[in-house]
Amino acid sequence: MMIRKIAILGATGSIGTQALEIVRLHPDRFSAICLTAHSSSEKLFDLVREFRPKVAALCKEPAILPEDVRFCEWFFGEDATQRALEASGADDALCAVVGIAGLPAVWTALGVCERVLLANKEALVAGGDLVLERARKLGREILPVDSEHSAIFQCLRAREGNPVRRLILTASGGALRDWPAEEMESATVEQVLRHPTWKMGGKITVDCATMLNKGLEVIEANRLFGMPGEKIDVVVHPESVIHSMVEFEDGAVLAQLGNPDMRGPIGYAMGFPERIPYGASPLQLPAYGALTFREPDFARFPLLKLAYAALEAGGTAPILYNGANEVAVARFLAGRLRFGAIARTVIAAMETIPTGPVRALEDIYAADQAARRFAEGWIGGNDGI
Ligand code: NDP
Ligand code: MG
Repeated sequence: MMIRKIAILGATGSIGTQALEIVRLHPDRFSAICLTAHSSSEKLFDLVREFRPKVAALCKEPAILPEDVRFCEWFFGEDATQRALEASGADDALCAVVGIAGLPAVWTALGVCERVLLANKEALVAGGDLVLERARKLGREILPVDSEHSAIFQCLRAREGNPVRRLILTASGGALRDWPAEEMESATVEQVLRHPTWKMGGKITVDCATMLNKGLEVIEANRLFGMPGEKIDVVVHPESVIHSMVEFEDGAVLAQLGNPDMRGPIGYAMGFPERIPYGASPLQLPAYGALTFREPDFARFPLLKLAYAALEAGGTAPILYNGANEVAVARFLAGRLRFGAIARTVIAAMETIPTGPVRALEDIYAADQAARRFAEGWIGGNDGI
């Protein structure tokens, strides 16, 4: 069996470490040839010791590089992820950096790898057509890692050329799913990070609580599957057993099910088109008893609604939506912003900053900077803790 050389960008994170669990289980299939992180140096050193990659990268240069990790080639600095990836000779890149900070890595990955296994949804939301065009031109495959998009991707393989009527994204509803609106305003970091079904990195867990994550996913689904917003629905499904669905013209709906375990979609992308075991516990539907569904509450979760508007507006609108949120979420996680102010910040940014077309990467970064500057200023002036 050919061993696939995989670069794991964001190796110290939630997605990165779960991908490495799969590499650990299947050393005959995968070799982690490139491992990168931002600043978690000790954690990355341990991974380097175990997985023996050819190259490794840290955006923040550590004070000392231990003797026993010097066997591999190291890259440091802001663009270390991209330089390491270029030097790696990886077949596939798992892009699991968080935020638009991962866009340069996705861009590079499309240039040098056969396949991009995409967890970093913000890069696709902001990168939009430019990223898709680059993939198309270079003949690269983008395989979704996000569980909903992996589910849709799997269901679409049965379409046999038939048109799709609707995509139905399921949503857990996040940590504040059942909270009354007045209490949501001042939810604490600890409460927000207590996600009911998924264990994930901090940023995405906050995004689940505002449901902006589902908003990003609506836009991500538009990018990946070419469906307009009005054909992408969201349904709240607290058990997170149905990962998403595809509806065809005859009304038939295909769904993909499984226990909520990110190793499923990560492993599916890594092994595609083969399905590789990762030690999942089998789905026991009777243990769930019932699977339940409800409409999303746009009044308590205005950022979900706003994603549709951003998608409809097009151009730089999704970039503003994402950029303002990244600033607000970082502030919230640092204990410097009320939970309720996250939505207000993003809404104000979208209402205030004019949108424009995206012709080049520079337009993306300029819009992102405009959103960040606006959010910093707006929070400073209006909504401290
Ligand atoms: P984490 O915060 O757990 O991990 C992020 C990883 O990226 C870490 O390795 C981190 O390094 C690295 N990183 C952070 N910032 C930078 C930067 N500026 N430049 C380079 N590397 C950086 O995030 P998750 O694993 O939860 O999420 C990763 C992506 O996957 C996100 O886009 C998220 O939306 C998406 N996703 C995640 C899911 C999950 O289950 N976690 C599910 C679906 C999608 P360091 O440790 O040094 O900070
Ligand atoms: Mg998801």
